[in-house]
Amino acid sequence: MDQKKVIVADSINEKGISDLEEVADVTVDTSITPEELVKTIKDYDAIVVRSRTKVTREVIEAAPKLKIIARAGVGVDNVDVEAANEKGIMVINAPESTSISVAEHTMGLMMSLARKISLADKSVKEGKWEKSKFMGMELNNKILGIVGMGRIGSQVVKRAKAFNMDILVYDPYISDEAGLEMGVSVVDLETLIRQSDLITLHVPLTPETRNLISADELEIMKDTAFIINCSRGGIVNEEALYDALKNNKIGGAALDVFTEEPPQDSPLFELDNLVATPHIGASTVEAQRDAALIVANEIITVFQDGSPRNVLNMPVMDPKNFQLMKPYLELAEKMGSFMMQATSGNIKNMDVTYCGELAEMPQHDILTRSILQVILNPILTEPVNLVNALSIAQNRGIVVTEGKRLESEGYKCIIELEIKTDEDVFSIDGTFVDEPKIIKINGYWVDVKPEGNMFIAKYQDLPGTIGAIGTKLGEHEINIATMQVGRREAGGEAIMVLKVDQSVPQSVLEEVKKMDNVDGAVSLEFD
Ligand code: NAD
Repeated sequence: MDQKKVIVADSINEKGISDLEEVADVTVDTSITPEELVKTIKDYDAIVVRSRTKVTREVIEAAPKLKIIARAGVGVDNVDVEAANEKGIMVINAPESTSISVAEHTMGLMMSLARKISLADKSVKEGKWEKSKFMGMELNNKILGIVGMGRIGSQVVKRAKAFNMDILVYDPYISDEAGLEMGVSVVDLETLIRQSDLITLHVPLTPETRNLISADELEIMKDTAFIINCSRGGIVNEEALYDALKNNKIGGAALDVFTEEPPQDSPLFELDNLVATPHIGASTVEAQRDAALIVANEIITVFQDGSPRNVLNMPVMDPKNFQLMKPYLELAEKMGSFMMQATSGNIKNMDVTYCGELAEMPQHDILTRSILQVILNPILTEPVNLVNALSIAQNRGIVVTEGKRLESEGYKCIIELEIKTDEDVFSIDGTFVDEPKIIKINGYWVDVKPEGNMFIAKYQDLPGTIGAIGTKLGEHEINIATMQVGRREAGGEAIMVLKVDQSVPQSVLEEVKKMDNVDGAVSLEFD
């Protein structure tokens, strides 16, 4: 058998290269130009990059033998994953390689703030000896608030415990049991902000986390408290932070990440109570070595026909099955998006039943993975994909069960989906008749195309309730396009599904939820 050929196009740790050399013919060319890469890539089975080399569609289309694109780091911004998908090429990375480095940098920033290390360093180098100016604070027995307990947050927990700190965690997507296991108290964001002596952020940047810490949050922090951001710029609002630091509303802040990088003329840098580092959380020899070792090991696994752990893209389905499943993949995505928006709280269980013809089709677990992908993607830093969705769900304590039933209530196929969270149970049934449709919500028959803006309310079927909800939306200039209602018996529990012309804002939802006879309301938005 021909020896496999690997090109390493960016500089990576030597040990990663020597590991690869044991099984493959490795070319290291860390100055290769995009044009040269397009010309030579046809000979290679795998390519390893860091950030310099872009693996573009042009490169991928010129690579008939390529099986793996490996990024020795976190994220794959420099790889055209879609083009790789189309050619059935695996994209792998090393997501866990930097967690310890970032956690240690966080601890370093914590110490720097608590003991004013960077200020004291500057002062001594200026020839001063200002012992009394640099009165510090011990971390011992202090309350540390960790926002986001994923890979990095959990490593911070371990290190903070060694400092004898009490730990509060806010992460709406982990269970209380996960908190108990780590020996931390899981609380809501407001409690964490009010009670912590130090707050550290370890969440992805999402619409939900952008400006998570703004003026209101800084206002309720203890006046002596410190805040640290080693996650992503934009999670702390920099203008609000400037005001809070300038007015000594909080004790201090440390930032490794900024809204704009490098930051241009930030007024924050005038302040003594701000510690800044240039996005170096992951910049350690060990993180880079680990990234190289992880991807080298993954490539070797693939060459030896094993299953790599960090594959980011879709496994290749044979084209015939793909065509068969395509409409149901579309339906699964819509149902996942519906559930992601309609449920709240920690997901404990997800039950999916495939009914009718779908029960007899091969590979319907791909649909379960697709639903999970849509539900989990918005809350995690690393892309959740059809390969890793089940294991990520398992790691987060979600029990996923799949069932099959031949009977399908007159439809060709139905997907029944039920999600239990620690707050709620929600179920929907969907089918595909020319397009995806939701045909049952919480057991009530409906006929809804998941598109545009929708509003769903649970209410008691008493005279005047439907009208009152409609009037409330009207008061806020929300126009109702269509309405469906479902109930089991007169006067009992009922559900109302509206198509609306505008998205229903959270403030209006809260007003509806407080109305007489209304048991709940959600707003959904589809592409
Ligand atoms: P992760 O996906 O393992 O963990 C993120 C956690 O945040 C998850 O547990 C998730 O449930 C939680 N979360 C999601 N939305 C939330 C919300 N609205 N409120 C509270 N919690 C929420 O990610 P990770 O690998 O731990 O990375 C965390 C952050 O660190 C990311 O923003 C990543 O980009 C950043 N990072 C920074 C550096 C650096 O150099 N400074 C290096 C690597 C990663």
